[in-house]
Amino acid sequence: MGKTTEKQQVKIDLSMPVRYLKGVGPARATAFAQLGVRTVGDLLEYFPRDWNFVPEAIKIGQMQEGFSATIVGLVESVDYQSFRQPAIFEAALADDTGMCRIVWFHGGYLRGQLKPGQVIMASGKVSLYKHQVQMTNPKFMVLEQGCLEPAEYFGGGVYPALARLSGRQIKRIIRPVLDNLSELVDELYDEDFRKRTNLIGRTDAFAWIHLPPDEGKLALAKRRLKYDELFLMQLGLALRRYKCKHFSAAAAMNYTNQIDSRIRKRFPFLLTGDQDNCISEIVADMQKSEPMNRLLQGDVGSGKTVVALYAALLAVANKRQAAIMAPTEILTDQHFISMERYLKNSKVRRVLITGGLTGKKRKELLGQIRNGRIDIVVGTVALLEKDVKFANLGLVVIDEQHKFGVHQRLKLRKQATPHCLVMTATPIPRTLAMTAFGDLDVSIIKHSPPGRVTVITRWIDSHNRQKAYEFIRERLKAKKQAYFVYPRITSVEENSTIKAATDGWKNLAKKVFPEFTVELLHGRMPSPQKGRIMAEFRKGRIDVLVTTIVVEVGVDVPKATIMVIEGADRFGLAQLHQLRGRIGRGEDKSYCFLFAETESEVAKNRLEVMTRCNDGFEIAECDLRLRGPGELFSTRQHGLPDLKIANILDDYELLVLARKNAFELVLRDPALTGPEHKNIRRALLAKLGDSLGLADVA
Ligand code: ADP
Ligand code: MG
Repeated sequence: MGKTTEKQQVKIDLSMPVRYLKGVGPARATAFAQLGVRTVGDLLEYFPRDWNFVPEAIKIGQMQEGFSATIVGLVESVDYQSFRQPAIFEAALADDTGMCRIVWFHGGYLRGQLKPGQVIMASGKVSLYKHQVQMTNPKFMVLEQGCLEPAEYFGGGVYPALARLSGRQIKRIIRPVLDNLSELVDELYDEDFRKRTNLIGRTDAFAWIHLPPDEGKLALAKRRLKYDELFLMQLGLALRRYKCKHFSAAAAMNYTNQIDSRIRKRFPFLLTGDQDNCISEIVADMQKSEPMNRLLQGDVGSGKTVVALYAALLAVANKRQAAIMAPTEILTDQHFISMERYLKNSKVRRVLITGGLTGKKRKELLGQIRNGRIDIVVGTVALLEKDVKFANLGLVVIDEQHKFGVHQRLKLRKQATPHCLVMTATPIPRTLAMTAFGDLDVSIIKHSPPGRVTVITRWIDSHNRQKAYEFIRERLKAKKQAYFVYPRITSVEENSTIKAATDGWKNLAKKVFPEFTVELLHGRMPSPQKGRIMAEFRKGRIDVLVTTIVVEVGVDVPKATIMVIEGADRFGLAQLHQLRGRIGRGEDKSYCFLFAETESEVAKNRLEVMTRCNDGFEIAECDLRLRGPGELFSTRQHGLPDLKIANILDDYELLVLARKNAFELVLRDPALTGPEHKNIRRALLAKLGDSLGLADVA
């Protein structure tokens, strides 16, 4: 007893471990830790997943069979019938309109608790028993002697709980903390702003989210807390961006009409309007000494590489080096090959750095890069290795950004502060563009170059498989090429239902298409072999390429007009769309066949979206909806705080508002040193620690 009193006297603050709260011992502290709750601050942000409201009491005379009701009445009599199976505790409850029988099965524990003369509130479903209204196993509380408010007993939050720590216990532990809210919680914004944006006070918001007086107030509390969460996240992004722009300098590039026309001459076609717009945005960035930090989005084949090469050539025209980084060797090969096509007979000096490059040759090349004798370097993450040093890196292009993550992006920047262009072929829904990539400016290629054909996509079940093979055979005879993509390289166990490329290859080569050249390509093959097979396929010497997800990105073979995806239900929507993007690159009709047998509703949904829709942005939005935002990107991985209450899909309007306000604030007070921003700054530091280098902003 003495111990608990002691605990109550401790003055609590947000950083205090929950261990010191009343009702929390070492065992419960451990349980809380499992829920991610370590401090009082965490506890306040341990939000309920659902809420109950104190039901309005009705008169006993108004009770109706089959409906739920809450009544208040006087206990007239009680009776315990231990001989019944199960034992029954029974009470008769009366008000001025009637009488209700209440029955608790296994109610032995109520002896001594419920006595005639007490006034109780009971809540439950109404039934009829011998023409009289009755409640069975209702929730109840004794009104006179109860120390709990009805709201607290019947209403309030429902918490995600553990076996060792029930929701009811969590509720009891949070309750006294809520009494101290006015000392614990600081307001972040002035009254005027809150009025304008319809945000309630932060203290009320915390009180009502845990113990809402009614639905309306709960909605207001949610809105306020979601806004705060999104605002602090956006503020982190705004600061990251500000820091990058203002505390580091890049080379301001010189840009003339002559440079422009010299670069354009390299391309055997006119750039599209979208390409031109993106180039203007990029050029404007690169003319400044603030480093560019831009995301270039566009569907597969929309012409991003051309835009990136334009930027690289602008750097080179300014006697600066450019590095182009992609996640796989197949893709860097591809970049290098298409670059060679455009740069034939040019004086631009370019190299491809691969993982296979070793020894003397590697040393020599690295030396040339270090001495500035190379203009454009293409490579994988191998470019991030310490011994790769540039003489005067002016631009970094990163393809397929989402495969790298923010940390690697920052690493490449460390060497110098070059301009940075990030490309992604998986269109990023606007919500993610504002969060996961929220510190970047965005350029979008919406329309692909003219002459592209829409890929015809069909979902094929086992009945139609033969027909599909025959259709493909006719195309192959006409010198078209096909990809067959499998979910895995080899089958893990016998009779596995997951199709494997090695098995598929044998079957296709020997039984289905014996008259054609069928080759296998997968990620576990040695690099030279992979390169050779890819080259043969490009030259049209291979008819059918059996492969895995390695062809997912970047490969550009216009004669390949057929894409078969085996076990298509095993692939995500973004992957399916990426794979399909490998075909439809020339002028010939292209076909994508999704081979799949599945009972899964989500998988059926994905396949259905694919057959109906060709637009990458639309598919990306569908994907986000089908998977939920949590799965698509982890906030932590992007150096952002976890979202505990807001959801970037459902709370899009709030996200837009929070983003606007956060970015405006950083423009006005980039170090957040104004006295009126003190609480915001503190809240941000508490959320992010120093992961954004806030300390050195100060
Ligand atoms: P992405 O990198 O977005 O996948 P690429 O830049 O590789 O797209 O372009 C895909 C194909 O389209 C390439 O074969 C390229 O030569 C061609 N291409 C790019 N821009 C144009 C254009 N403006 N007009 C015609 N063809 C183009
Ligand atoms: Mg590309």
